[in-house]
This record gives sequence, C-alpha cells and structure tokens, in this order.
Amino acid sequence: MIMSHMNGYVQEASGQAISHRERAVDCPGDDSGLIKSPHCSAHMERIQHYQEELKKRREEDSRGKHDIDPNASLRLKKLAQNPKVGIDNPTFEGKEKATKDTFSQDPVADMVELLQALKWAKHCLADAQSQEDVELIMQLLAKEDFKNAYTIYSAVSEQMTRVIPTSPLTSQAEDLCQEVQKILQSSQHKEGLELKVLLTKPHLQAHDSVAGQEMEEDNLTQYIGETVKLVRLEKARDTPLGATVRNDMDSVLVSRVVKGGAAEKSGLLSEGDEILEINGVSIRGKHVNEVHDLLQQMQGTLTFLLIPSSQIKPAPHRQTVMHVRAYFDYDPSDDPFVPCRELGLSFQKGDILHVISQDDPNWWQAYRDGDEDNQPLAGLIPGKSFQQQRETLKKTITDRSREHQGRLWYAKKSKRQKKKSPSTLSRDFDYDDILTYEEMSLYHQPANRKRPIGLIGPTNSGHDELRRRLLSIEPEKFAVAVPHTTRNSRIHERNGREYHFVSRPAFDTDLAAGKFIESGEYEKNFYGTSTDSVRHVINSGRICLLCLHTRSLQVFRSSNLKPYVIFIAPPSQERLRTLLAAEGKTPKPEELKEVIEKAREMEHNFGHFFDATIVNMDPEQAFHELRRLIDKLDTEPQWVPTSWLC
Ligand code: 5GP
Repeated sequence: MIMSHMNGYVQEASGQAISHRERAVDCPGDDSGLIKSPHCSAHMERIQHYQEELKKRREEDSRGKHDIDPNASLRLKKLAQNPKVGIDNPTFEGKEKATKDTFSQDPVADMVELLQALKWAKHCLADAQSQEDVELIMQLLAKEDFKNAYTIYSAVSEQMTRVIPTSPLTSQAEDLCQEVQKILQSSQHKEGLELKVLLTKPHLQAHDSVAGQEMEEDNLTQYIGETVKLVRLEKARDTPLGATVRNDMDSVLVSRVVKGGAAEKSGLLSEGDEILEINGVSIRGKHVNEVHDLLQQMQGTLTFLLIPSSQIKPAPHRQTVMHVRAYFDYDPSDDPFVPCRELGLSFQKGDILHVISQDDPNWWQAYRDGDEDNQPLAGLIPGKSFQQQRETLKKTITDRSREHQGRLWYAKKSKRQKKKSPSTLSRDFDYDDILTYEEMSLYHQPANRKRPIGLIGPTNSGHDELRRRLLSIEPEKFAVAVPHTTRNSRIHERNGREYHFVSRPAFDTDLAAGKFIESGEYEKNFYGTSTDSVRHVINSGRICLLCLHTRSLQVFRSSNLKPYVIFIAPPSQERLRTLLAAEGKTPKPEELKEVIEKAREMEHNFGHFFDATIVNMDPEQAFHELRRLIDKLDTEPQWVPTSWLC
C-alpha cells in the first residue's frame, strides 16, 4: 500500500503530470435516477454492443463446454429451471388448450347445450324414477338464480385460470437459438431435426426486438442489470457528485463514493463499477485526468453507461460516527499520498472531526465539527494506523539524519570520543505512542461536580491575575486546592488550610505514586498540588482553579478529574508592553519577545490539549471571556476524550 503511494510521489516529484491514483469526478447533481423511459435506441445498440463483448468474454471462459454438455449453458439451465418453460413442464400451448377444453367463453350457451343433453338423456332412460330425477335437474338448471350463479362461477373460474402473458425471459433469444443450433448440429434424432427447422424461422428475431422494446419501456435494469446499467444524474452547480475514478488497465472504475454527494445519495454508482460511457462519450482507454476534464465541461443531465462491479457488496450496515480530536495539522495539498487531492479535508491540531466512514482503513471520510451543514460532501483524511505509520517513518528518517549529523559532529569534535551506538539514537516506536487522533465524546458536567479549570500561559500573560480575580470576586463559587509542602508550618498557619504539611519521605512517596498534578522546589522545600486536593474542591461543589505548567498537562488530563484547560495567550509585543506598564512593570524588549516566543512554543507543543484560548488584549475583556467560557460548561456539553467516560 505504501509502495503504491510512494509511486505516486515519485511521479509527481519527477515533474510529470500529477498522477494521483484517483480523480474526483466532480459533476454536481441534485437528482438522479435510472432511465425508465422512451426511445433510446442508440443506447440499446450500444448496450447490445457491450453485452456482446461481455458475452464473447464469457464464451471464451467456457469454450468447449457447450459442445459437450448442453446443460453447461447458463441460459439453457436458467430456462430449464423456469417453471413456465422448464423441460419437464407442460408447454404454454398445452396449458392454454387444457383451459379451453374446460371452459367456454359463453356460460349461457354452455347451459343451453347442457339442457339439450339432459333432454336427450331423459328420452333415452327407460324407468320413470330416473326420468323424474333428470326432470328435477332440468328444473333446477332452468331457474334464474341458478343461471346467475353459474354465470358468476364461470367468470371467476376463467379469471383464475387465465394465462397471463409472460415477460420476455431474455433479450437474446437469437443468441440462445444459435447456441442450441450448434449443439444440434450433429443430432440425428427426429425431435432434434424438427427443432432445428423451427429455430431457423424468423420468430426469434421478432421476439428479440419486442423484448428490446419492452425493456426500454419498462425498466432497463430489470432485464440487463446483470451486465450493463444506465444511470442518469442531473448536474447541479452546488451539489458535487462525490465520487472518484481510477484506472485499471484500460478501464476507468469508480474508485470511491464519498458520503454526502449525489452519487452516494442516489445509491446508483458503486465502487468497482466500470464506466463505459458518459453522455455517449466512450471512456474506456482514457486516463482519469481526461475523465475529470471531460466531466468538468459537461452540464445538465449526465448519463453513465456502466458495467456494475462484480464484487459482492457487503450488506449495508449502519455506520456509526466516530468523533475524534486531531493531534496533527493536515493539509491535503501538501500530501503526496492522498488518493484524491480535491477531496482531501484540511484540519488543524486540536480540531474535532466527525469520522463518518472507515470503509477504507487508510483514508477515512470525515467532516470538521461545525462544517456539516454548509459542506455537504465529506472529505478524505488519513486513517489512524496509516497516519501512525507515516509518523513512525518520519521519526525514523529524522532520527537517522540526526544520527548522521551527530556522527559528523563527533567526528569533527573529537576523534578520540566514543561514538554513540545507533541503537541509542533511533528506537522503535510503539504506534500507540504516536498521537494522531483521540476519540472524543460530548460531556455535560453535572451541576454538583464542576470541572476544574486549568489556566496556562507564559509568565506575564496574565493567567495568574485572572485566577486571583475570580477567587476574590466569587469565593463561594471558586476555590484553589490546598497544596502539600515539606516546609514547617508558620504560627498563623493551620494544617489543611494553607497547606498540608508533610514530611519529606511522605512527600516523596506520594510523588512516586503519581499523586501530584504538579510539584516544585523552593528554597530547599518541596511543594505540590495533589489530585486528592483538587477532588476535595470538586466534591465541595465549587470550581477548582489551577495555574499550570505545560509539564503538568499530561498528568492532569489523565487524572480522571476531567479538567477544562484554557490557554491565556499574550497580545502583540507593543500591547503587552502597555499592559505591563499599567501594572508598573517595565520589561525590556527582549523580555517581551521572550513571552511571545514562549507562548508560541507552548501552543505548538501543547495546543492540542487546550480546550479554549483567550488572547489577553485587555484584562477586562479577558476576564469576561473567561467567565463566559466557564459558564458555558453549565449550559453546553463539551468534547472530552471518550476514555474519560469509561
Ligand atoms: P511559601 O512557602 O512562602 O508559602 O511559598 C513559597 C513559594 O512556594 C511560592 O511563592 C510558590 O512559588 C511556591 N508554592 C506554593 N505553593 C505551591 C504549590 O502548590 N506548587 C508549587 N509548585 N509551588 C508552590
């Protein structure tokens, strides 16, 4: 799989025409349907042409068999199995004759005939009793009620036994006839010779043209769906067709049907269908790029002549949508591997994507969150394992190049210095280590268990000020977790209020057990915030506020506390200088630059863990935005990793 993608890359890199294996046949259409109607004899001729070709192919496959065993003919077998014309069944004519013998068309005439017969029988009978019995029957038959009942009975019987004319079984009786003639060539049997004579009569030719007409007038696919199908799609400007094509030798095949497009909605184009013609233009032998260009020029009704895929379609199953958060940026225009660039969906790290099809494990079909309504067609995104493979490959290449650079550096620096072994520089990656997508679910926080809010940002971005303001304005609503420390308590401090005062060994044990979300050292004392302290605030019904370091993010997220992380980004350098000046600070230009640089770095490395970002242009505005985001957690469900809810 990777090789075939790589081939695509090599071709492109070598400057040849872009040769993605698939091309979107972007022919919008809002309605589609099979042609059901009138006179399309041109189509019929072409269909017959393609059918003949197919027949030839089939004949080649089974050549030899027909001469030996007439039952080997599929069509003969089919006919033999048909109850209407099967070999062991009475013929149509025979059946019709039997019907005529039983019922006449006129029940009154039947009755007159019967009465005359009874009269004659009475005359012939010798004993009086028998004559009396016949007389009784004749009186009964003469009654008006009986006559009416008999008329109704005759009508119903006739209806029930009427032979309904059959639909043509095949449009190719002539072909079948030739097959049989071939088989009968050497026959010496009387019946065989008789059949040969019958088959030379022009009836079958007439049958075929009638069958052809009936097929056109009724429903084309009903008769020829097995071999060729005719599909009509209306090309509308705003609804893309949503299908891709690929070359297979000289054939052009439907490669992919994308969700939300006219093709998928119509259900008439399927993956693997061969396109023979579009609006009468022959497609076989064309490159997919030519097909793409051709369709771009076409307007209005598009009529596809197709050979349906012979692949057995899996039973339609209800696709469940998977929601994921992307942990990488993706730009299809920059991806040499995407099978169809036009259908690629770009996204950024942190975006929520709704994956609606994973039929192709390498290329999923998805919408970006919020785009579903104005973007009818799903886009292609790399599948999880495919992306992990690519990332692994990328890492290996980067490591090798670093290793190479390292060797050069060591060689230059000191010839005596021992080289690092390659194994220490390049290691095997576990696919699961590589973050690509994380499955997400909507979560609405319960009123009595508010999600902790993690504020993060570089020093001087203002996140700590925002936290303090929230705490001072609404202390009954917001709280901080009581930290642990190894320092001694001061006179006014109470254990469990300002700090949890613990011994160094106890602190180390908790640290080793992963009980701290974050920790640090200050003047030879250790400090840390434990998950239990945060949980204590949550259980009290208040919102726990934390200022975080990026290194704490991973632990915080995997702590089952369901944190909501807000990144407080600094404004422009000039604006930052003004804001800090208002606080009486006079940072140097390089310090300001550093804040902005640090923020950029944090966003680049950890942006996918941020639930929201506030650019702190103005402390007042930032505060209101922060309040709005926090309030939203009460009113709207938010995307959280599905693993949090298990
Ligand atoms: P003090 O010992 O004077 O209360 O705090 C001294 C310093 O310890 C604070 O300025 C702060 O930098 C640090 N500190 C206090 N609590 C915590 C905490 O929970 N975690 C971390 N990492 N440092 C803390």
